[in-house]
Amino acid sequence: MDRSEIIVKSPGRINLIGEHIDYNQGWVLPAAIDKHMFLTFRKNGSKNHCSIISDDFGETLSLNLEQLEKSDKGWHNYLIGVLFEIHERSAGLEGFECHIRSEIPVGSGVSSSAALECGFAFGLNSLFGLKLSNLELVQIGQSAEHRYVGTKCGIMDQFASVQGKAGHLIHLDCLTLDFEYIPMDLGDHCILLLNTNVAHDLATGAYNERRQECETSLDLLARTYGIEKSFREVRPHMLETVGTHLGIKAYKRCTYVIAEIARVSEAVKALKENDLKKLGELLYKTHEGLSILYEVSCPELDFLVRLAKSEPLILGARMMGGGFGGCTLNLIHKKAVPAFVERAKVAYESEFGNSLSHFQTVPGDGTALSQTS
Ligand code: ADP
Ligand code: MG
Repeated sequence: MDRSEIIVKSPGRINLIGEHIDYNQGWVLPAAIDKHMFLTFRKNGSKNHCSIISDDFGETLSLNLEQLEKSDKGWHNYLIGVLFEIHERSAGLEGFECHIRSEIPVGSGVSSSAALECGFAFGLNSLFGLKLSNLELVQIGQSAEHRYVGTKCGIMDQFASVQGKAGHLIHLDCLTLDFEYIPMDLGDHCILLLNTNVAHDLATGAYNERRQECETSLDLLARTYGIEKSFREVRPHMLETVGTHLGIKAYKRCTYVIAEIARVSEAVKALKENDLKKLGELLYKTHEGLSILYEVSCPELDFLVRLAKSEPLILGARMMGGGFGGCTLNLIHKKAVPAFVERAKVAYESEFGNSLSHFQTVPGDGTALSQTS
C-alpha cells in the first residue's frame, strides 16, 4: 500500500469589496491570501478508519467512514460535512490520517473555515484520485458549511480559496460563477488588515438572519415587479415603491445590497483606471452601509474605521467578512504602515482593553499541493 504523504496548502481570503453580496446574486472581488492552512495526508491501510489532528486546537478527531454523524464540536463538523458531501459524489474514500497546521487567524473574517473545507476536500481528492473538479470542491465546501455547520454562507469564500491567483483579484459573478482575474496593482499602497480579536463565532445566527431578511424582501420585490428573483434586477425606484410593505429593517438591508452591487462595478472600473482614491472612497461607503444599513459591524470595527479616516495616507477602510468582529481592511500608503499600526494599537487597547493584531497581505494562489508544510 502506498503510504507516501501529500501536503496541501490552502489559503484564507480577503474580499476587497462586495460584502454580503455573494448570497444576494451580485458580484464580488475577493482574492486568496498569502496565509495558509497546511494539511498533510496519508492512507493508513484501513477500509474505514480515519484520524484528523488539528495542531492549533490540540485535538484529534477519530472517525469511522461507515458511521459518520454530526458532532457537538464545531470544528469536527466542517470535516464530517466534507466527508458526507464526498460520499454523495464518489465511492472512493478509504482510511487515512490527516494533520492540520494553520497560520490563518480563526474567526477573523479571513475564512479559515473555507481553507479548512476546501483544503480537506482537495487533499482527499488527490489522495484517492476521486477526479472531482475545482468547482465541485468549492461546492462541497459550501454545502458542508450549510448542512453540517449551519452557516448559510455564499460561495465566495470557497471559490476564492480554491481559485485564487497570485497578484490578482477575482471578479466573480455569484449567480453564474463566471469570473475574471483582475491584476491588483496598488503601487505605493498596500492592504493592511487590523484584527479586532473579537471572534465572530456568535454571529452565525445573525448571518443567517440577514440572508433570510434579504430573501423574503426579494420575494416581494420579484412578485410585485415580475422580475427575476435576483437583486441585480432590482432598481432603486422599485425599493422606494415597495418600501412601506417591507418594513424599515428589510428596507435598509435591501438599500445596502443594491448600493453595494453598484459599488463593486465602480471598484472594478477604478482598479482598471488605477484610480485608488476612488477605490478608497468606495471602501468607506461600503463600511458605512454595513454599519448603518446592514447592521453587521460592532463598536471595535467602527472605531478602527474612524481611526483610519483620521490618517491622510489611508485612502479607504472597511470591516471585512461576515462582521460582528474580525478584521478591518485598510488601503494604506506603504510608508504609513508602521506609525499607523502603532497608533491604532495604543488607541484600540486603551479604548477596549483588548489587543489589536495586524498583518499585511497580497493576493496569493489557490489551494494546491505543496512540497513543505
Ligand atoms: P473564519 O472563517 O472567518 O475564520 P468561521 O467561524 O467561519 O471564521 O470559521 C472558523 C472555524 O473553522 C473555527 O471555529 C473552527 O471550527 C474551524 N477551524 C479554523 N481553523 C482551524 C484549525 N486550524 N483546526 C481546526 N479547525 C479550524
Ligand atoms: Mg468562515
